[in-house]
Amino acid sequence: MYPATQIVHLGRNSARYEGMVNPPVYRASTVLFPDLQAYHARTERRYENQTVYGTCGTPTTFELAETIARLEEAHDAVITSSGLSAICLALLSVLRAGDDVLVSDGVYAPTRQFCDSMLQRFGVRVRYYPPRCGGAIAQWFQANTRAVFAESPSSLSFEVQDLPALAQAAHAHNALLIVDNTWASSLFCHPLQHGADLSLQAITKYAAGHSDLVLGSIAVANASLARQIKDCIFTMGDAAAPDVCYLALRGLRTMAVRMRHQAVSGIRIARWLQTQAQVKYVLHPALSDHPDHALWRRDFSGTASLFGVLLHTTDANAVDRLLRSLRFFGLGASWGGYESLILPASPTRTAVPWAEPGTLLRLHIGLEDIRDLCADLSAALPHLDG
Ligand SMILES: *Cc1c(COP(=O)(O)O)cnc(C)c1O
Repeated sequence: MYPATQIVHLGRNSARYEGMVNPPVYRASTVLFPDLQAYHARTERRYENQTVYGTCGTPTTFELAETIARLEEAHDAVITSSGLSAICLALLSVLRAGDDVLVSDGVYAPTRQFCDSMLQRFGVRVRYYPPRCGGAIAQWFQANTRAVFAESPSSLSFEVQDLPALAQAAHAHNALLIVDNTWASSLFCHPLQHGADLSLQAITKYAAGHSDLVLGSIAVANASLARQIKDCIFTMGDAAAPDVCYLALRGLRTMAVRMRHQAVSGIRIARWLQTQAQVKYVLHPALSDHPDHALWRRDFSGTASLFGVLLHTTDANAVDRLLRSLRFFGLGASWGGYESLILPASPTRTAVPWAEPGTLLRLHIGLEDIRDLCADLSAALPHLDG
């Protein structure tokens, strides 16, 4: 099955549900057992995606988990309550006090926040590496380095990472590679196929696709890691609500058409922006002049519609005028929904400080007619000229 067929046909065992096209929402806290033996067996059965208690998932959760696992070509996957909880739980699952973790300098800001607060507080040393270091990451390893956490492309600054090179270096030093795959989603990049051990994403974004829920997933390369991740999740009590999993499955069915449409519009708008006088440059890995375009071509099978635009101006009032004048680009966090968004972005970088003069904007292109989006931007850009 090709991915577009997978998202339509996986995760819906209609025969189990009296022929219904969609799996129903199974809600649960208590699950009843026929006898004591079955009750005692629950501790083990929860690792096998069997319904044993509400926090461990219900058939609705498992349909989504199994779909993500197949899409990511993973051994197994778990669904978490948000994209951020997927990141935190993955790191907590594999790290302990005294360990060292290498984190990309380009990670999503809340990932950095978790590393700098919680991880450091519990005795894990966190070091940030330059996102473009590739195989040169080998020189960063110490005897206690247990994991590399990559996000490709970087949040806000869109550097693409050499995942196979990172995986090779990590494995040579007995460390794991964890990848935040949110930008490409399970459709356009399969980090486990490039050597990663864990691939995380915010289902919140393209998979959900309608800006109405938060959910995360962790796809896992092998059985022992799957057990380690589940142990951590069961211990922490993180639980994805079955109603939300149902909505995510509903969003997922149309993800391929949405993403393809949005990708085409995104590339066209990015190219058009490159020709505008107010724009210094555009950061979009699918454009041939992006510094990491070759890596993107090698490791990704498609593109998100999320990219950066660096404006010449440093005048905050001018940027404010531009944002106010837009009709179709909403100002707000998150992305991956059907609607276009725009947000000023200031990357936090400590390994390689972000020192680009100008104003960085992050654009998310939705499903609107591209003619309206271009007209909107084209009427708004002159606001920067004063
Ligand atoms: C949005 C996002 C997350 C977190 O997802 P939530 O569901 O909002 O917690 C994680 N990583 C990246 C790259 C994101 O863009």
